[in-house]
Amino acid sequence: MADVQRYAPLFEPIRLGPVTAKNRFYQVPYCTGLGQVRPRAEAALRGMKAEGGWGVVSTQETEIHPTSDLAPFTEGRLWDARDIPALRLMTDAVHEHGALAAVQLVHNGRHATNLLSRAPVLAPSDMAISACQLKQGRVLDKADIRALRCWHRDAALRAKEAGFDIIYVYAGHGMTLAQQFMLPHLNTRGDEYGGSLENRVRLTRELLEDTRDAVGDTCAVAFRFGIDEMLGPDGMQAAEDGRAVVELLADLPDIWDVNVSDWANESVTTRFQPQDGFQNDYLSYVKQVTDKPVVGVGRLTSPDVMLSMLRKGIVDLIGAARPSIADPFIPRKIKEGRIDEIRECIGCNICAASDVLDIPIRCTQNPTIGEEWRRGWHPEYIAPRGQVKQTLVVGSGPAGLECAMQLARRGYEVTLAEGAMDFGGRVLRESHLPGLAAWGRVADYRLNDLCQRANVQMFAESTLDADQVIELGIDHVFLATGAAWRADGVGRDTRRSPPEIDPSAFIYTPDDIMAGSEPEGWVVVYDDDHIYLASVIAEKLVHLGCEVVFVTPDSTVSSFSAYTLEQRRIQTRLIELGVDICCNQTLSRIAPDCVTTACVYSGRVSQIESTATVLVTERQRNTTLFDQLQGRGLKTLELIGDAAAPDLIADAVFDGHRAARDFERLKDAAEQDGFRREITDLREEAS
Ligand code: ADP
Ligand code: SF4
Repeated sequence: MADVQRYAPLFEPIRLGPVTAKNRFYQVPYCTGLGQVRPRAEAALRGMKAEGGWGVVSTQETEIHPTSDLAPFTEGRLWDARDIPALRLMTDAVHEHGALAAVQLVHNGRHATNLLSRAPVLAPSDMAISACQLKQGRVLDKADIRALRCWHRDAALRAKEAGFDIIYVYAGHGMTLAQQFMLPHLNTRGDEYGGSLENRVRLTRELLEDTRDAVGDTCAVAFRFGIDEMLGPDGMQAAEDGRAVVELLADLPDIWDVNVSDWANESVTTRFQPQDGFQNDYLSYVKQVTDKPVVGVGRLTSPDVMLSMLRKGIVDLIGAARPSIADPFIPRKIKEGRIDEIRECIGCNICAASDVLDIPIRCTQNPTIGEEWRRGWHPEYIAPRGQVKQTLVVGSGPAGLECAMQLARRGYEVTLAEGAMDFGGRVLRESHLPGLAAWGRVADYRLNDLCQRANVQMFAESTLDADQVIELGIDHVFLATGAAWRADGVGRDTRRSPPEIDPSAFIYTPDDIMAGSEPEGWVVVYDDDHIYLASVIAEKLVHLGCEVVFVTPDSTVSSFSAYTLEQRRIQTRLIELGVDICCNQTLSRIAPDCVTTACVYSGRVSQIESTATVLVTERQRNTTLFDQLQGRGLKTLELIGDAAAPDLIADAVFDGHRAARDFERLKDAAEQDGFRREITDLREEAS
């Protein structure tokens, strides 16, 4: 039990304009893919944050008008009064636990596409929109600016009516009109809204003043500001224009919520920025310029880092999006001295990928996020066990660990058997690859929990066969035996004609590399997986002294990583490491001294000199034990995680969690979970 008093400053109330937050934990706005389409789910998710102890809980960016239409992406919406009831669900859920509710109003300017509304895209100047679409934004004339101010003001009034306590003006992440006006490469206007910085900040100033005027008597006005574009002198820099903006607007907002821009910089993954509190250098002077409270983020999971940020006067409130997703109960755990129970964010950005894919939020560490309403899952509580007493889990990867931990929490006696020397499965193996150390947190959190439970027995170096499982006499068995990478080159792109592999060629799989095999010389890494692993293996091989050629049938390196906001960084890193990148090439032959590839468009054949090939294509499920146990009289025999369906680590954790929750539940009830949806109301709308 940690020293609870030590963290008392994190629990001091703080005045934010006309309202008071009960503590310093501030869940900043972030997207969930629930928003206006799934308002009950959104409310339940945010309510869970409030229950977890956050003093302020924000909803996601909320469009103020059809000219800021982000469809098909599911954000918040306050276009008119009919959007109020859905958001009131959220504010009620947040208020129920004594937290303040915040809303981030937004006009996205040229970041919007207006595909639903078909309204013209509005921009500071005439220009192409930010998405790669055949569409240009048109300059806002003076009448448009007056209209925009009215829309923002009206949306603020609607937000107040919906019950929000904090109302944002938003100029960050490279996504909003207010920020676009500030940046000289986007704002080439010749009027009083262009030219000098003071002119470029004018729109933001007006929006802040309008919001204060409309709702400032009862609501705090927050300003979310991207203080540094992380482009050096080519963009806004915290020490230059960024500081000047803070000076110009110093005491106008009630709260400064400051971060770096764009989103890929602000939500950088641990692979590229392992340091918690990595934004502090950009924020440190803001509090010297303004007397108003400052919120800062930076993947803050450590209460000691949080405390030192308060003590050093860097911020007044600890902002968090991802840490609050991975563990909605961080504040309560700190307050109750349960620091080692914090489920730390691993910085993998699967949450961000959900947003970019426009699906409900998923998290690697927290399988319950987004399922609070649909499945009724609580991140901290789980139903006690039924009649059964004993369970066996085989395999201790993310699926096995999560399943075992949740079964143990339900009160079952749990036996966990692992064939390897150490527990952790793929997250342990992958955590030794360059940049993926934080993956280890997935195992660490669960092992820490399991080790403290009297009802859990854990056996490493215990590869079980079917007879050994039966001898244990446990009738309820979960097999989390994982999946192994194929060595035959079969994958998404080579399924019709797998590569011809010379028997004397040196072939490696990711499993071989993770087990310590070290190819030498010229190595081809063939990536038909497209997530992150092939690029990380390429990096490792360069560190081992290999000359690496990265071959992929895709047109970019690690294309899935665009969803996790890493694609540019990954490709840049490989280029900087001297990796030769061959895109649009599929594998047709692997010989001992060369690899033959074919262009996916023309079929034109090329040869690449190589002494070894690493094949990152597909995984095969490890089902041998499952197959052997069929018909052996077990009452429960369930494959879970990658052994059931190879997928992301987040999906293995989810499946382990689901299996533990559904155990001893009526099958029909469990199957109904997927059918629970928020169905469009088809009643005639009054016109
Ligand atoms: P998942 O992602 O589904 O959790 P992993 O591949 O991470 O799967 O983990 C599977 C784990 O199962 C590995 O650590 C592996 O050593 C272990 N395992 C596989 N077969 C057996 C077995 N028969 N007995 C014990 N452990 C096993
Ligand atoms: Fe953190 Fe990954 Fe969860 Fe996002 S998905 S909150 S980055 S652990």
